[in-house]
Order: sequence, then structure tokens, then C-alpha cells
Amino acid sequence: MKTKQGKLFVISGPSGVGKTTICKELCASFSNLKWSVSCTTRQKRNQEVEGQDYYFLSKEKFLERIQQDGFIEYALVHGNYYGTPKKEIEESLQKGNNCLLEIDVQGGRKVKSDSAYTSVLIFIAPPAMNTLLERLHGRHSDTEETIQKRIQNAQKEMKDADFYDYIVVNENLQECIEKVKKIVSDQMM
Ligand code: 5GP
Repeated sequence: MKTKQGKLFVISGPSGVGKTTICKELCASFSNLKWSVSCTTRQKRNQEVEGQDYYFLSKEKFLERIQQDGFIEYALVHGNYYGTPKKEIEESLQKGNNCLLEIDVQGGRKVKSDSAYTSVLIFIAPPAMNTLLERLHGRHSDTEETIQKRIQNAQKEMKDADFYDYIVVNENLQECIEKVKKIVSDQMM
């Protein structure tokens, strides 16, 4: 189903780069931009809320959803499945909203190549890998092994981001938020 109404705004970038903060600011600034809550098979973190941060599914349920064509994209990230639910996105677009997807670069590639949707892809890059490492340690939410896996993945993701429409470096969070807001605002017109 081709819809001309809303756009899918995709925000990607390595873990710890500030994507979630940026996405929250975007949703607070644009009332017709709706956050897409993804499904995942990863373990829920302490502070996370079901249906707000993610829908936490068993691997079996997730694979069942894939069979039912329930995702506009899904990918295996850091050993767990993540996917964007199709029904919610299409309902939101039909109401004339735009959607905000915080997903990885594999998902970004799939969304961009899907002719059913109009998408705008924004990659948030860290000023340096050291900054990222410090932020991941500072979050105190992952083991050292997980952090190392995420850093390796970040290096790969940065190389894969060349097909994104915009790359914004998060050197200063507030300035980065303003730049992303400007892109979203221009693209919504
Ligand atoms: P986290 O486990 O830290 O919440 O997310 C890990 C990675 O999965 C992040 O890069 C995040 O953007 C990505 N991710 C979250 N939801 C989705 C989704 O629905 N699809 C894809 N492809 N990636 C996702």
C-alpha cells in the first residue's frame, strides 16, 4: 500500500551515541511525529517499560510474527531480533502522521528500499570511538563483553552508513538535536 501522507523518519547510530534522547526531543517538538515501538527478543532492562520502550517477545513469538508478515523490517542485532511492527506504522501513516523509527542500519537499508514508504534516513555519528566507549561504561547497564560487542558493531555500522540521507555528528548534544530538528522540520513540509 503506497501512502503519500506521512514519512518514516529513521534514526540510526551506534549504541550510546544519544539516539534515544534525540528521538524523545523530536517527539516532544513535533506533534504529528509518532514514535514506533519496536518488538525485540532481548532481555528487558530494569528501567524499561513493556509497550513503551519495546514489546518484549519470545523468539518463538517473534518468528511467528515474521511468518505473518507483521514487520516492515526486522534484523538480528547484537544476537537478538528487533523489528518494526507493520500494523501500528500503517495505522499511524493513514491518520496523517509521520513515524519515527530508532533502528539499526540493516533496518534502515530495508526501509529505504521499500517502495511502499517514503523515508528520510538520519545517522547520528559519535565524534570519536573513545567518546562512545566512555558513554557505554557510564550507562552501567551492560557487561564489558556486551560493550565490546557494541563497539565492534559501531565500527561496522559507521562504514555501512553511506546510504543515509543525512549524517549528523553528536559532538554537542544540544546542537545535534537542533540540527536533527531542522532536518525533520524541512522534510515534513
Ligand atoms: P538496544 O538493545 O540498545 O535498545 O538497541 C540495540 C540496537 O537495535 C540499536 O541500534 C537500535 O537502534 C536497534 N533497534 C531497535 N529497534 C529496532 C528495530 O525495530 N529494527 C531494527 N532493525 N533495529 C532496531
